[in-house]
Amino acid sequence: MALIVQKYGGTSVGSTERMKAVAQRVLATQKQGHDVAVVVSAMSGETNRLLGLVKELTDRPDDREVDVVVATGEQVSIGLVAIAIQTLGGKARSFLGDQCTIVTDSTFSKARIKSIDAKNIFKALKQKEIAVIAGFQGTDEHGNVTTLGRGGSDTTAVAIAAALKADACEIYTDVDGVYTTDPRICPAAKKLDKISYEEMLELASLGGKVLQIRSVELAMNYKVPLWVKSSFSDDPGTLCCEEDESMEDVVVNAVALDSNEAKIAVFGIPDGVGIASKIFGALDEKAIVVDLIVQNVPRDGKVDLTFTVGKADLVKATDVVKKIAKAIRADSVETSGDVAKVSIVGVGMRNHSGVAARMFEVLAKEGINLEAISTSEIRVSALIASKYAELAVRSLHTAFGLDAKRAKKK
Ligand code: ADP
Ligand code: ASP
Ligand code: MG
Repeated sequence: MALIVQKYGGTSVGSTERMKAVAQRVLATQKQGHDVAVVVSAMSGETNRLLGLVKELTDRPDDREVDVVVATGEQVSIGLVAIAIQTLGGKARSFLGDQCTIVTDSTFSKARIKSIDAKNIFKALKQKEIAVIAGFQGTDEHGNVTTLGRGGSDTTAVAIAAALKADACEIYTDVDGVYTTDPRICPAAKKLDKISYEEMLELASLGGKVLQIRSVELAMNYKVPLWVKSSFSDDPGTLCCEEDESMEDVVVNAVALDSNEAKIAVFGIPDGVGIASKIFGALDEKAIVVDLIVQNVPRDGKVDLTFTVGKADLVKATDVVKKIAKAIRADSVETSGDVAKVSIVGVGMRNHSGVAARMFEVLAKEGINLEAISTSEIRVSALIASKYAELAVRSLHTAFGLDAKRAKKK
C-alpha cells in the first residue's frame, strides 16, 4: 500500500464530465489499496476570468484583495470533485488551504509555503476518505488568504506530498508528459520518459508551463518522485528524478519558449556607480523578479539598460522604473511586451562546447535578431521579437536533432 498525491490541473477538472473522470481515476487508485490525496486547480479559464473581473475595475488593484478573488476558483473545484467522488459511492472530504493548514509568507500573488500541518489530511485518510485539497492557496500568519503564483497548484501538490511523505506525486494534465518542447507549438515534439530535476527546473523557469518552477524545486529538495501524466490517457508519463549517466549523452534535451516576459529599456542614464543597484533594488523591494539584463557600454557619459520582467509585473515595474529614471535624470523609459525568450536546455551541455554558437547560427539563418542573451551551465536563452518565437522553437528543435522521427533512442 502506498500514499499517492494526485494533482489535476484546470483542463482535467474543466467540466463536471471531466470531474467524473477524475473521480473514477482517484477511486481506481484507492481500490488498488492506496491512500489518495488529491490536489485540484480551478476549472480551466476560471482564474483568468477572475483576474479579468479585477481588471475591469482597475489596473492597479490591492494585492491582498486580488488573492481573495482568485483563490475562489479552487474552492469551487474541491467541492465539486468531492461531490463527484461521493456520487460514485466513494468517501471524500474537501480542504481549503487553511483547513489543511498551508501557511505561507505574505507576498500576495506569489506567496511561498512556509509550513503545512497535515494532521487533518492524515485524519481523513485514516478514515479511508479521499482528501480533496485546494491548490494554489494558503493563508499567511495573519490569516490573510494568499496565492502561490500562476500554476501554483503544482507546488501545493508537491508540498503536500513532502508533508505526507508520500510515495509519489502525480501531476495530471492535458499532455502525456514532458516533451522536448511544447507539443502545441511543435508537432514534432517527442515525449521524454525521464527528465532530471535540474533540466525540469530550467524548463519550468523558462515558461514551459507544464510544471510550476517552485514545485520542481520542492521535489528536488525533498526527493519527491514527480510524475507528469495525462488525465485523458493511460500513458505512463514522464518521471522527473535525479540525473543519471544516460542523460548526459544528450546535449540538448529540450527547447523552451517563454512568452510571458516584457522588456523595459532605460535610455541615456548618466554613467555612475550604483545605478543598477538603485533600479534593481527598488524592483526587488516590490518583489518584482528581473530576468535578462543588458547594459550597453557608456557613450558620451551615458548608458542604456535593458532588462525583462514578467508581463504580469510590467505596469508595476514601469511605475517603479519611471520614478527612478526621473530621479537619476535618465533620458527616457520604453517598454514592450512584444518579446519572447527562447532557450535550449540539456545536462549534456556541461561537457560540450560550441552549443551556444550553434544556437545563434540557427537563429541567424532564420534572420532572427538577438536582443539579449543569458546562459547557465545547462541552458542558453535568447530574447527575440515575439513574431519569430514559434519559428525559432521549431528551427532549434530540428537543428538539435529533437524531432520525433529523427530522435535517437535514449
Ligand atoms: P494544467 O492546467 O494541467 O496545470 P498547464 O496548462 O499549466 O496544465 O500545463 C500543461 C501545458 O504545458 C500543456 O498543455 C502544454 O501546452 C504546455 N507545455 C509547455 N511546454 C511543455 C513541454 N515541454 N512538455 C509538455 N507540455 C508543455
Ligand atoms: N488556478 C491557478 C492558475 O490558473 C493555479 C493552477 O492552475 O495551478 O494559475
Ligand atoms: Mg499548470
